[in-house]
Amino acid sequence: MATHTWEYGWQWRAACRGEDSGLFFPPGEWESREAKIARERNAKSICAVCPVRIECLEYAVRIREPHGIWGGLNEIERRVLIREQGHGTLRSIG
Ligand code: SF4
Repeated sequence: MATHTWEYGWQWRAACRGEDSGLFFPPGEWESREAKIARERNAKSICAVCPVRIECLEYAVRIREPHGIWGGLNEIERRVLIREQGHGTLRSIG
């Protein structure tokens, strides 16, 4: 059985399943700094209790996902993580 597909992979256990994706990604229109901080805080509170946080973060780092909250980190935080650690050591942050 393929375990890397969405249907059978880690996404199935994601804490954000059924949540408003608008929490995790910026809106199409301009977003104030305060609104971004509040939105990301709410998204990160979901990630904080997610059983597949590491898998999610590893995926986002591997594909160099440029947008949104993945694994509890936003795009800027992921770039810093990649620069400082490389994605081979992400489990050390879990
Ligand atoms: S870590 Fe966050 S974005 Fe990733 S699957 Fe879990 S809840 Fe969703």
